[in-house]
Amino acid sequence: MSTIVPARHQRPLPLDQIIRRDPPGAEAIEMDVVIVGAGPAGLACAIELTRLAKQDAESGGGLGELNIAVLEKAGALGEHNLSGAVVNPRTFHELFPDLNSSDIPFRQPVAGEAVYFMTEGRAQRIPTPPTMHNAGFYTASICEIVRWMGERAEQAGVNLFAGFPVDALLVEGDAVRGVRTTPSGLDRDRQPTADYGEPTEVTAKVTVIAEGTRGLLSQGWREWQQVRSPNPQIFALGVKEVWQTPKPLNAVIHTLGWPLPDDAFGGSFMYPLGPGQIALGLVVGLDYHDASLDVHELLQRMKLHPLFRPYLEGGELLEWGAKTIPEGGYHALLERRSGDGILLVGDAVGLVDVPSLKGIHYAMQSGIYAARAAFAGLKQGDLSAARLSAYDRLVDESYIVADMYRTRNMRLAFKDGLYVGGFKAGLMTISGGRLFGGRMEMPEDAATPRRVTEAEPFTPDGKLTFGKLDAVFKSGNATRDTIPSHLLVGPDVSAEVAELYSHVCPAGVYERVGDELRVNAPNCIDCKATDVLGPRWTPREGGSGPKYRAM
Ligand SMILES: Cc1cc2nc3c(=O)[nH]c(=O)nc-3n(C[C@H](O)[C@H](O)[C@H](O)COP(=O)(O)OP(=O)(O)OC[C@H]3O[C@@H](n4cnc5c(N)ncnc54)[C@H](O)[C@@H]3O)c2cc1C
Ligand code: SF4
Repeated sequence: MSTIVPARHQRPLPLDQIIRRDPPGAEAIEMDVVIVGAGPAGLACAIELTRLAKQDAESGGGLGELNIAVLEKAGALGEHNLSGAVVNPRTFHELFPDLNSSDIPFRQPVAGEAVYFMTEGRAQRIPTPPTMHNAGFYTASICEIVRWMGERAEQAGVNLFAGFPVDALLVEGDAVRGVRTTPSGLDRDRQPTADYGEPTEVTAKVTVIAEGTRGLLSQGWREWQQVRSPNPQIFALGVKEVWQTPKPLNAVIHTLGWPLPDDAFGGSFMYPLGPGQIALGLVVGLDYHDASLDVHELLQRMKLHPLFRPYLEGGELLEWGAKTIPEGGYHALLERRSGDGILLVGDAVGLVDVPSLKGIHYAMQSGIYAARAAFAGLKQGDLSAARLSAYDRLVDESYIVADMYRTRNMRLAFKDGLYVGGFKAGLMTISGGRLFGGRMEMPEDAATPRRVTEAEPFTPDGKLTFGKLDAVFKSGNATRDTIPSHLLVGPDVSAEVAELYSHVCPAGVYERVGDELRVNAPNCIDCKATDVLGPRWTPREGGSGPKYRAM
């Protein structure tokens, strides 16, 4: 049987495009702080900065008004955010001490929970592992939370720029001095059209990278500065749907087992989103071994299982989307997440606890810590690497790293398959992480060989199950058809590799046509899965991509 090692077909990072050494032009916009990405991490950072500036002004601190800009690639806030989500509210209470949970746009409190082990025809309820308890938490749509946080940030004086993707860091020596956005209005051959818009340069005393999972800028900064981590970062792909349902769901549901093969790590979730709506999704580690594994298709098959089908029959698919999740955990943490003029927060540096599938409150907490370190640096007039390393200490001494340390090997144990992994993870839970406590080594996802197998045919029915093109339509994708491709395909893409890419991408961007690879770039919904295993993703014209409303 032949195998594919995806790394052999990938292009290196386009580092010379990400790290720009030419001095900023005369028209560059000057800010005190520029934040890339309006997700929970970036917005929490912006809001905390305004709070600190206000406190400083009230106590006669003398720093004066702060100019803070948040640049977001989505056309409007929230449109590129996707999560489960069950949210731990603790960081909301730290950021908004005057608000009760009922003032925050959560959908509903978690009223009950169940975990099932699935086979093709059955679902066996199993005890809820301690890492998966969600009592006291809330279900929510991250799009709604992001829109709400954006309004609060704007009211506090933050400058929010939606539709401004950043494609480069402006640097001087080892210091980051700001960012540059993508141009807009290019035709397929990268020639300016009548709607051409030039890139914008934004300089700042501190740049905060809050670009989320598998970020281009964080990958670039890390490689440029040679910042190491014990293990490489690894990722999962989550494909998610929001349904209008005729049958009420009262509990948060998680499943293990079918439809995943035994040698793939992952599971599904189904969450109630208030009366008549549910979110359901499937998350699969990108270190799977079968080249024809297709997460979108597995989710479609899963919906026909007796556990899910009754909630969907007679209902309606409202939205579809996908996104990767950094899964490397504690052992994939970078030795530093700060440098001269730069701080990196949230998913961009992998602050996710995989066994509990939580990242939102860690992202927000890291944004708050970044704000505190940046503010202290602004007060001292010193934004050097040494001064900003205060941020690393805050994160390292916090519950973020304590939680990630406790579950440090749980995800990694599953590289040996579901049953061995489940057994080891059980012992780790009982022993509080002490058993199998030494670092388990993991290769990067693209280094894992894939068996070339024949895909099982699947025909969607258009009612409960959907093909990729219908799914992309349900993401609201509004990319201009005549946009230049933003995907960098590597060398030596054989027919088998083209077939692998067609299964990795949930949005039908890659197709095998005969022995060739066809790339339908406008379909891309920025999930970043092929950036992990295949063609590189780069930022494109602002406002391209999905228009999620309730993800
Ligand atoms: C399927 C799935 C289920 C999950 N379930 C849960 C859950 O139940 N509970 C939980 O707590 N966590 C969950 N998570 C994890 C959680 O969603 C993330 O940890 C969290 O959203 C990270 O926040 P962030 O601000 O770091 O990144 P993001 O939320 O990804 O925000 C990053 C922002 O940066 C923008 N951006 C990216 N690149 C650029 C650029 N170059 N220029 C400008 N803007 C850019 C993006 O458009 C985005 O708006 C889940 C994740 C997934 C994918
Ligand atoms: S091409 Fe776009 S949608 Fe497809 S996997 Fe890559 S990032 Fe995701």
